[in-house]
Amino acid sequence: MKDKEVAEIIQEETRRQNQGIELIASENYPSVDVREAQGSILTAKYAEGYPGRRYYGGCVYIDEIENLAIERAKSLFHVAFANVQPHSGSQANFAAYHALLKKGAKILSLDLNDGGHLTHGSPVSFSSDWYQFVHYGLDETSHLDYEGIEKKLYEENPDLFLAGYSAYPYAIDFRRMREILDRYQEKTGKRCYFLVDMAHIAGIVAAGLCQNPCDYADVVTSTTHKTLRGPRGGILLTNQEELSKKINKSVFPYTQGGPLEHIIAAKAVAFQEDLQPSFVTYMKKVLENTKACNDALFSFGAKVSSTDNHLFLVNVKESYGLTGREAENLLSLADITVNKNMIHGDKEKPKDTSGLRIGFAAATSRGCTKEDAIAIASLIDSILKGGEKVAEEKKEEVHHLTSSWKRIEELRYLED
Ligand SMILES: *Cc1c(COP(=O)(O)O)cnc(C)c1O
Repeated sequence: MKDKEVAEIIQEETRRQNQGIELIASENYPSVDVREAQGSILTAKYAEGYPGRRYYGGCVYIDEIENLAIERAKSLFHVAFANVQPHSGSQANFAAYHALLKKGAKILSLDLNDGGHLTHGSPVSFSSDWYQFVHYGLDETSHLDYEGIEKKLYEENPDLFLAGYSAYPYAIDFRRMREILDRYQEKTGKRCYFLVDMAHIAGIVAAGLCQNPCDYADVVTSTTHKTLRGPRGGILLTNQEELSKKINKSVFPYTQGGPLEHIIAAKAVAFQEDLQPSFVTYMKKVLENTKACNDALFSFGAKVSSTDNHLFLVNVKESYGLTGREAENLLSLADITVNKNMIHGDKEKPKDTSGLRIGFAAATSRGCTKEDAIAIASLIDSILKGGEKVAEEKKEEVHHLTSSWKRIEELRYLED
């Protein structure tokens, strides 16, 4: 790269990523192959529209690429229709809402402090401007309260029921949600769409290690860069042809212009990687590592959620007398990257929080083992107990651990 200024910054970021332990649950490392596709010349092409129906000439190969990405997405999630154009998970949600609802319609989603996403009705997001949000919550054990959801449906009569979260560590019973909605629709005669935003758990779904929301929801949205290990982006899935047409119009021309075909090519590569048996092995390791770190922290006496997926929550306020912000800052002194997170019933402000969210999708992509995950729990516990001085001391141990892992710029997931 001739631009030395940019090249140097990228080099520093590469070093940071290699040296540190990345435990942010929404992050992951795409393969060299995914990044090659992302950096390809496909970025030069305008292709507004869809394969076979473009507003520009010269789309022969672009159509082939997008069709390949669509077909692979369909096989990966066992679904009839896929739109691979959303630039991000938030864009996919915007398009899903618009495809299903009129402005001002009512959406029933999880309380944001209990693990929902900004686009699920936050006052600072477009979503709350366009739609009226009402919320369901968690029970006293911080699990989804299915009976509470059913009650809320009859009280609120929403037009759409939304499931899928950013910080929920337990399995989600999509089948039970479908049954609740069917019962509600039959009794009241009112149509209520079922939308699942599986941004976080898409990799677990793809590996067949949890219920597939595509079997139960009207529409499913996802990101492609979290547990799926693809490029930064979004997708929309449905089994209903009528809805697939509405979704396509809603993505382009309603919410987006020209698709990012280089990213779509990278999505195709990632989906191919995700279709391999080795991806199932990877995803099982993610779950195993998450559980191992979670169990170890619990055994040290920390107040943690348990976990059924790739993440869990730590109540650092009760465990260590720290806010989430303080805990995040302490760990970052040792090059362990996590994010503060609100927990069920949190009394702190969102800028402070009482919790941390910890996930193992990224670390496992580099080769983190179960033993490493337990060692990481021990590092976290000592640092949060010991403060700044201990954090500085532990940094070397962190670098030593990550030096035994694969380098992020050399990751390849497809066999030769
Ligand atoms: C990450 C996430 C999104 C948004 O993804 P972006 O690509 O950052 O816009 C949407 N919904 C959920 C549940 C998420 O976790």
